[in-house]
Amino acid sequence: MTKLLTPALILMTSLALAQGPKLDGDYKAIEGKVVEWRRDIHQNPELSNREFNTAEKVAAHLRSLGIEVQTGVAHTGVVGVLKGNHPGKVVGLRADMDALPVTERNDLPFKSNVTAEFLGQEVGVMHACGHDTHVAILMGVAEVLSKNKNKIKGTVKFIFQPAEEGPPPGEEGGALLMVKEGVLKNPDVDAIFGLHINSQTPIGVIRYKSGGAMAAAQSFTINVKGKQSHGSQPWSGVDPILISAKIIDGLQTIISRETNLTNEAAVITVGKITSGVRFNIIPESAEMIGTIRTLDYDMRAHINKRMEEMVPTIARAYGGEATIEILNATDITYNEPKLVKQMLPTLKRVAGEANVQTEKARTGAEDFSYFQNEIPGFFISLGGMAAGTTESFPHHTPDFKIDDTGLLLGVRAMTEMSLDYLNK
Ligand SMILES: [Zn+2]
Ligand SMILES: [Zn+2]
Repeated sequence: MTKLLTPALILMTSLALAQGPKLDGDYKAIEGKVVEWRRDIHQNPELSNREFNTAEKVAAHLRSLGIEVQTGVAHTGVVGVLKGNHPGKVVGLRADMDALPVTERNDLPFKSNVTAEFLGQEVGVMHACGHDTHVAILMGVAEVLSKNKNKIKGTVKFIFQPAEEGPPPGEEGGALLMVKEGVLKNPDVDAIFGLHINSQTPIGVIRYKSGGAMAAAQSFTINVKGKQSHGSQPWSGVDPILISAKIIDGLQTIISRETNLTNEAAVITVGKITSGVRFNIIPESAEMIGTIRTLDYDMRAHINKRMEEMVPTIARAYGGEATIEILNATDITYNEPKLVKQMLPTLKRVAGEANVQTEKARTGAEDFSYFQNEIPGFFISLGGMAAGTTESFPHHTPDFKIDDTGLLLGVRAMTEMSLDYLNK
């Protein structure tokens, strides 16, 4: 009898894993609500570090589910802790909540007409990056999981994050501040999952990249000092504009001649030069600001070191002086390869094998990376482009649009990644 039961039991267990946790009824019950929440949040967008009403809605929802809630984390962040019925590890799930200073341009019934003040200007406010969908998806995941505590071996921490797009100048915020305030501690989070909707990926599709998936963003400021003179007599001065041109040229050779671009992409961009007042004056100084994008920690270290060496050296070669300051803005969104491998069967089960696709690295940045600096994490792309269309608009633009029939897949992916991670 025992001999017969053992293989049967093994078969049942592997079938259960292959079939997933059987939550179809719960998903069906939540689908309409997720779309409703998303449209409500879309119509009422709030800028970074100003997500007051969004946070209130999230907190009220989590409380109604019996989830322990902490508010005011990193200004407006909301953290919910759901303990399963069985002891185990802790998984974190993150959704960012902020909108952008963009004026929405479409005829959707839930279009935003909200305006707000941003850096002293009155601007339109729009969920032009799709963070409204992230909030609604995670609210849905919280509802499904809170109804299935008996299936949870461990704890789920829901992290609703403010200011992913960056806090306003002079303020702290975003994932970095949440980490500083201890969001990954007490209970200590073992792994974290997050997703980003994508307006140019078809609904039903999940894309991912193992390793460096999105770039580290750094900003730099270069100050060049020359010697002012009459524009007709350059020999009596030192031209900071010419030195700036040589520096830009030199910096681009770090990318084109010194960086192994077959490993990962890397970018240096000078975005602004300020110098001079008049056509016939060689000015005293010049300032340049720009950005560095990297997908590999060693490549970033090399590029930074060479920029710091090259800038003052080039200036000296032409008789001037220059300094460079490099600041970290966002780290590498690094998907821990072991965790990716572990979670792929789950993604393939919820989306179907053909709908789980690898993607190339992106030189855009995402502050989810600050969580991944601390613990293993996996950040996926979720399709938001309507079926049968080829028309899609990029993120951060007034025409940006997401088809919310694809959101349930996000709920299923996050729910089942959590359960499979905790219960394996
Ligand atoms: Zn964005
Ligand atoms: Zn975004």
